[in-house]
Amino acid sequence: MHISSTFDAGNIQVVSIEEHHASLRIRPDVGDEHLQWFYFRVSGARGEQVTLDIENAGQVSYPKAWPGYQARVSVDREDWIQAPTSYKDGVLSIQVQPDADVFWVAYFAPYSAERHAELLAACQGQGAQLHTLGSTLDGRDLDMVVAGSGPRKLWVIARQHPGESMAEWWMEGFLGRLLDPDDAHALRLLDQATFYVVPNMNPDGSVRGHLRVNAAGANLNREWEEPTMARSPEVKLVRDAMDALGCDFCLDVHGDEELPHNFIAGAEGIPGWTERLDGLTQRFCDALERANPDFQQKVGYPKDAPGAANMSMCTSQTAQRFNCLSMTLEMPFKDTDDRPEPELGWSPERCMKLGASGIDAIVEVIADLR
Ligand SMILES: [Zn+2]
Repeated sequence: MHISSTFDAGNIQVVSIEEHHASLRIRPDVGDEHLQWFYFRVSGARGEQVTLDIENAGQVSYPKAWPGYQARVSVDREDWIQAPTSYKDGVLSIQVQPDADVFWVAYFAPYSAERHAELLAACQGQGAQLHTLGSTLDGRDLDMVVAGSGPRKLWVIARQHPGESMAEWWMEGFLGRLLDPDDAHALRLLDQATFYVVPNMNPDGSVRGHLRVNAAGANLNREWEEPTMARSPEVKLVRDAMDALGCDFCLDVHGDEELPHNFIAGAEGIPGWTERLDGLTQRFCDALERANPDFQQKVGYPKDAPGAANMSMCTSQTAQRFNCLSMTLEMPFKDTDDRPEPELGWSPERCMKLGASGIDAIVEVIADLR
């Protein structure tokens, strides 16, 4: 049996392999503060009962992620099937019996750099403009899709935390519907608003196989108060563009390691919180829940107390800076408890459907954003 991870977004270290049992470790992100994303290839075990033990699973950023979690396995790199997974004494043990010579194992269905390039090209083909905001520390392009001609300025960003690949699957569904020339809701929105969409805020961390940080070890969603070109150019470039272009709405798309639900976190704790922002947040959430029952409002993060917001996070900083509706959308790595799907779990397809439903929720609030 052979195991490798030297490819786009790959992450694993092989400690030892004996027969069809492997001892593995997740390689920490740059800066050694975070680790959790894994993605590797296994070959030479067709038909065998394979056990893959991740020995440092107890030292990851969110150990509570493992109870109730299933790993994702693919033989065709299209369908990512849940594999039985157990967590005991700090070891995450994944069981696979492959009916193929090669299979891939990941924390969640990966969203590749190649697919990102194809997403941009598809958006351009559907009439959107592509803007390069600047370069990342590894020299990658920070890409923004611009669509629409209306006066409201709407920002939608994803994947500040690169291991949260579900966020870019969401983006593919969102952009696909936003640019659909046969979708009357989308066409009307494009008359009412201009959309600035950053499908991947952290391309370096994505390719490097990080969970949470960029090439300098910066957690981008803690950089919004004082971003710098040296440490967090991704945030600096986007925040400068927001200052220059304006911002009437911001949605920041993420994945949550622990909670088996889709939910929104608002900006309740900012100094400038108002009844207007509270009402808009509630209307957006109600509309999203109506449009797609995979979204729910019963389980989520506790709301920040007044004045207790962390202003270094995108949602708090943009809500305060622009006095606008700003929210964080979280999707699960685990399956959703609200409607489990035993084979695929919370899947790329469901992420894309939820992204498309984002259009309905924006329709609800667009007229009242200012
Ligand atoms: Zn996140």
